[in-house]
Amino acid sequence: MPESVPIKVCGRCRPLTQEEATKGVKSVVKSSGDKLLIESGGKEHSFSFDGAYANDVRNEQIYKERCEPILQRALEGFNVSIIALGSTNAGKTYLMSGTEGDPGIAPCFIRNLYQAIGERSNKEFFITVSYLEVLDEKMSDLLNPHVNQMKIRHHPHKGIFIEGLSEMVVHNWEEMSQLYEQGTRVRKMGANDIRANQARAHSVFTITVEQRTRQSSKVGVRSVICLADLAMGEAGGTSDTHIVAGLQGLMNVLSALGGPKKGSNIPYRDSTITRVLQDSFGGNTVTLMFAVVSPVDKAHKESLTTLQYASYAKSAKNHVKANLDETAEIIADLREEIAKLRDKIAATSAPSRDDVHKLEDLVQDLQIAKMSTWAEREKLSKKFEEERKVNLANKGILDWVMDNMKKGNKEIQEKMLLLQKEKDQVTSQYTEKRRVVDGLNEELQKKIAEYSKYQDSGKLTDSETKKRVTAIHEIKEKLRKESEGLKQIKSQLRDLAEKQKEERDEVNSQMSALKGSTELRQQVEKEERLRVEKENRAMIADEVEKMKTELETEKSHIQLKVTENKSHSAQEVAQLEIQLAEMKLEKPVTTMKIQLLEQEKERLIKELDAVYQVHKDELEFQRLHHLETFRTYREMFEEQKAALDQRYRHLLEDAIQDAVFLSSRNNELQEESQSLRQQNAEMRDSITKLGGRLPSQIA
Ligand code: ADP
Ligand code: MG
Repeated sequence: MPESVPIKVCGRCRPLTQEEATKGVKSVVKSSGDKLLIESGGKEHSFSFDGAYANDVRNEQIYKERCEPILQRALEGFNVSIIALGSTNAGKTYLMSGTEGDPGIAPCFIRNLYQAIGERSNKEFFITVSYLEVLDEKMSDLLNPHVNQMKIRHHPHKGIFIEGLSEMVVHNWEEMSQLYEQGTRVRKMGANDIRANQARAHSVFTITVEQRTRQSSKVGVRSVICLADLAMGEAGGTSDTHIVAGLQGLMNVLSALGGPKKGSNIPYRDSTITRVLQDSFGGNTVTLMFAVVSPVDKAHKESLTTLQYASYAKSAKNHVKANLDETAEIIADLREEIAKLRDKIAATSAPSRDDVHKLEDLVQDLQIAKMSTWAEREKLSKKFEEERKVNLANKGILDWVMDNMKKGNKEIQEKMLLLQKEKDQVTSQYTEKRRVVDGLNEELQKKIAEYSKYQDSGKLTDSETKKRVTAIHEIKEKLRKESEGLKQIKSQLRDLAEKQKEERDEVNSQMSALKGSTELRQQVEKEERLRVEKENRAMIADEVEKMKTELETEKSHIQLKVTENKSHSAQEVAQLEIQLAEMKLEKPVTTMKIQLLEQEKERLIKELDAVYQVHKDELEFQRLHHLETFRTYREMFEEQKAALDQRYRHLLEDAIQDAVFLSSRNNELQEESQSLRQQNAEMRDSITKLGGRLPSQIA
């Protein structure tokens, strides 16, 4: 019997970031017990949840209080989902992934999962992961970013699954953590449109855990764990059906679960993400959702929407039961049936057609069943692993994803890479727009030229004149709009360049703080100089190009006016001529502007050269200084050595003199002792001759 379990919903409001705090941004969200309170439109709105967290609460605490029980259910064989729902910049990624110092729910979950597995030595586990991204209704594979088609399918035993999504087998904590981190990097850097990605992309990291008791029954249990990051996006403001569906679909489902549309059929099919997560919203899954909001006053509308939709989910009930994994049993049954049928067919001389067909079907079923065995999936996973490197390399992000980049400040490096990528995107948008504008300009000039020609020939009827003039005005209007767009993109580019400069300055200041990295610093400075030069050149070329086209367009406009007003008064003609003369005058002005830009360029280059020279001189000076110090030390050493040598020599001489003295003294003493001995002998002789006795002590 399925068990009825309500969807649990918690509120989470992040603290203000340091940047927001220093800018004096106002916070409009706070927590009180299990409620989140938000000020909006001069009123305070209150939302009750199963739990509420505001300000500086560590992810670890939220994990312990809310997610650990969910892990327990997963280990019992239930499907579970932990979902962060919120708009851009609310703090979803921080909650789910966290930082090194404050690991998020996913890393905590992964760590705990493997701890639990380590404590269950009587069980065998088979674990796979996949990582899906859904952006504007398109699915992509974050572990193995291929371009093959993917399809959402439903399997009678397994439930919803995605055909074509790589399922990678993992054997330990480290492998799983790595795949999660790497997929998250693909999510950031592999995105074709970073802005859209941040605002509208949903992601689902899926862990499948299958377990069975060692050397025991064939039936095991299986659990699908979804860790999802769902964007609430910038709803409205677009009519692109894919974008609307991608965001609205989720809102429709939440609304049907417990909001204004409660009781109606739940419209899972409205969007891709709701189909992927169908089981989490009203199906066979234990679901925990976090309504993630930013405290920033400017975001109060989005925060309100998030809290509103999340609270619709509170009253929804899911119906859950543990999933039995019967693959082994199914295979055994199929084998038995096949064997029986084969025997039957072999025994008859003319086997029935039906039996033969049935045998074919059974063999096919067996093949399908075998595909979901652990061994088969392990094989498939190896294939994905190989494809994966190629696909990452094709996207140009292999080193980044595998974390093979030059070490340094990783955070800044990542920010710089993201900025560069965004700038590349905007630059290509700019080039595209520029092309459109130039095309329109050209078309306009052509139309005007044609018109003047006909007008001169006097062949145009009134209606035709009107038609041509209208067409010209339409193009002009289009041109105006496109030029406006171009201007906006340009200002975006300028903002990005500014941000890039800030980041670069930070890197540079860190670099110069590093001791002993003169070579590195010089390298960076050189690269910087080349880059600035290149950008300046491109900018000047672009400006010149723009002036040229503007001048041409103005010229055609005047031409048009002249033609249009041929029949007008001489005064107007004179005025137009004055305008024309002014335009002509502008030419030298433009030339001057160009010259100024060139001068500016030269000045910049000179300045950079000077800075470079200063650094070089400084380095040279330091080198000389070091040499000087070395020389001084060397002299001191030589002096001391000479002094020591001298002292040693003196000591040696003293020693030799001492030795000589001692040896001659020794000789003297020996001679003395010899003569004494002789005297002694002589005295003995005289005593014996005298017939006396020697005292005993002398003998
Ligand atoms: P989202 O993924 O919803 O777009 P992010 O997770 O990227 O939002 O968070 C937006 C900003 O707020 C980031 O700069 C992030 O570092 C910061 N932030 C989010 N949550 C916290 C938190 N709990 N503590 C500190 N800073 C946070
Ligand atoms: Mg995010």
